[in-house]
Amino acid sequence: MLLERDELTSGTTWHSAAQVTNFDPNQTMVGLKTHSINLYKELSEDPYYPINYHHATGGLRLATTQDHIDGYNHFLSMAKGMGVDFELIDPEECKRRHPIISMDGLLGALWDPLDGDIDPAQLCQALARRARKAGAEVHRFTPVTALTQKPDDSWIVHTDKGDIHCQSVVNAGGYRCNEVGKMMGVEHPVASMEHQYMLTESLPEIEALDDDFRSPLIRCPQADFYQRAEKRPPHRVLRTRL
Ligand SMILES: Cc1cc2nc3c(=O)[nH]c(=O)nc-3n(C[C@H](O)[C@H](O)[C@H](O)COP(=O)(O)OP(=O)(O)OC[C@H]3O[C@@H](n4cnc5c(N)ncnc54)[C@H](O)[C@@H]3O)c2cc1C
Repeated sequence: MLLERDELTSGTTWHSAAQVTNFDPNQTMVGLKTHSINLYKELSEDPYYPINYHHATGGLRLATTQDHIDGYNHFLSMAKGMGVDFELIDPEECKRRHPIISMDGLLGALWDPLDGDIDPAQLCQALARRARKAGAEVHRFTPVTALTQKPDDSWIVHTDKGDIHCQSVVNAGGYRCNEVGKMMGVEHPVASMEHQYMLTESLPEIEALDDDFRSPLIRCPQADFYQRAEKRPPHRVLRTRL
């Protein structure tokens, strides 16, 4: 049973940039991300509930220091062992795959062929739809107001629509997880951070590219930003998070 205080996606999910990458320095997370990519691909192809999943744009993770190159080489061998495809490419190849990229100080990039982005609200609804089909109940506009643990370790979940008795409680409150944590005397090491986005007008340099060009994602660990095409042709604009 899923209890949602407001509408589904109303927490962080609705405004996520929703980039879907296979990259992670941690092996367990690479496995989890590969699983997610396969699941999202399957969900996006559901003829009754298709999702906008632009999963074939690919992505460039830039290298501007030798440390980046060494780190990517280490990652490549780990990913290869897990059957996950990545490539280390030189600056000329970066330019070939993303013609308007600047090569200033660029040593190369890690290429993730499966990088892309998905509509986060549609994805959440698709997951809820599958959960309902599998027998789960989803109650929207039902805030959890308190939690009481019983002597047998089961829980009473209090809501303004009544109490629910259950064996286990999963705190999936997102950035509000400490509000729910407090109800059970738990402090989670989680803090909310602010980011800035820039959304450009349509750029002539991008408009000049072929219509079937699918702008890859760019991530720069040095300057700490990512960038991708926010819209498809003919209104190509760039979205950058700093
Ligand atoms: C600007 C930005 C960009 C991002 N970009 C990316 C990206 O490119 N790729 C990526 O993978 N991730 C990205 N993320 C992270 C991603 O959006 C989040 O990790 C994800 O959406 C979290 O989902 P969630 O379900 O855990 O939390 P949420 O979406 O916050 O859901 C938690 C839900 O719990 C509900 N809730 C809270 N308290 C209660 C209560 N007491 N009772 C009942 N319900 C309650 C809330 O209403 C909410 O709907 C980004 C995040 C931000 C902010």
